[in-house]
Amino acid sequence: MYFNDETIIFLDGKYVKASDSGVNLYNQTMHYGNGVFEGIRSYDTAEGTKIFKAKEHYDRLHYSAEKMHIKLNYTWQELEEITYEVLKRNNLKDAYIRPLVYLGANMSLLPTDEVHVVIMAWDWGKLLGDKLLRLGISSYQRPNPKSCHVEAKVVGHYINSILASTEAKQNGYDEALLTDMHGNVAEGPGANFFLEKDGKLFTAPLGNILAGITRATVIDLAKKLGIEVEEKFFTPEEIKTADAAFYCGTAAEVAGIESVDTYVFPKAWKDTKGAIIQRNYMNLVLNKELELA
Ligand code: PMP
Repeated sequence: MYFNDETIIFLDGKYVKASDSGVNLYNQTMHYGNGVFEGIRSYDTAEGTKIFKAKEHYDRLHYSAEKMHIKLNYTWQELEEITYEVLKRNNLKDAYIRPLVYLGANMSLLPTDEVHVVIMAWDWGKLLGDKLLRLGISSYQRPNPKSCHVEAKVVGHYINSILASTEAKQNGYDEALLTDMHGNVAEGPGANFFLEKDGKLFTAPLGNILAGITRATVIDLAKKLGIEVEEKFFTPEEIKTADAAFYCGTAAEVAGIESVDTYVFPKAWKDTKGAIIQRNYMNLVLNKELELA
């Protein structure tokens, strides 16, 4: 429809046939950001390579696809099996896995029947590194949940994350912290945010954020470890009365935070509930016993 076998395009310095480019350059994902994806990790455990929370990730991929009117014709079990095969074929154990569902040629603003599923995997260290992070409150807010399905993992949503991370780096911070449309603290560009005050953890409720699988895991872990967690809205001002904070996400795992804007958290990271969660998150993904606090 958009090209035929004779159509020539310019691609990366070469004139090639549109049909030979591999990816159909008229695809709706590239032009309008309509595609969905996941970020998953596998770990080299004592019982072999284990994909952490494969069902939860592939359930969310299905949810994201459904919200974007994309037909995903694989069950989560099939997707898990394919993922193990990708890991095996690439000789990967500790890996980051990126399933991406992208669409066929469609320049209209309506759903597309041609659906492509790609699963890639590579060796990737912690997204935000090992150092304590210095965050800057972003001038960008998370999208209004009435403008898109913010809780779904949609390709196009990540322009918001890219803008926020780039701004934070340009201002000398390690990473951004975004508010929601009402000015409450929401989350990071690729991780959920937890605050610690008087031994209790606080995090933004669902609604304006990506429903992180690590966030849910942290809440679950905290319960098991006897650490109280409350999901509630709080403002950037309230951060300045907190003792500590951390980010969590599949790629970032659990990452301690040193400061937000000019406010430096007073508690040493090693003495925080976050540090207990961090150690036990690693125990959990590696199939090891939890260290009860
Ligand atoms: N928020 C955003 C915006 C993200 O991109 C991610 C990474 N998927 C997270 C939170 C954390 O989600 P998860 O724990 O499921 O990786």
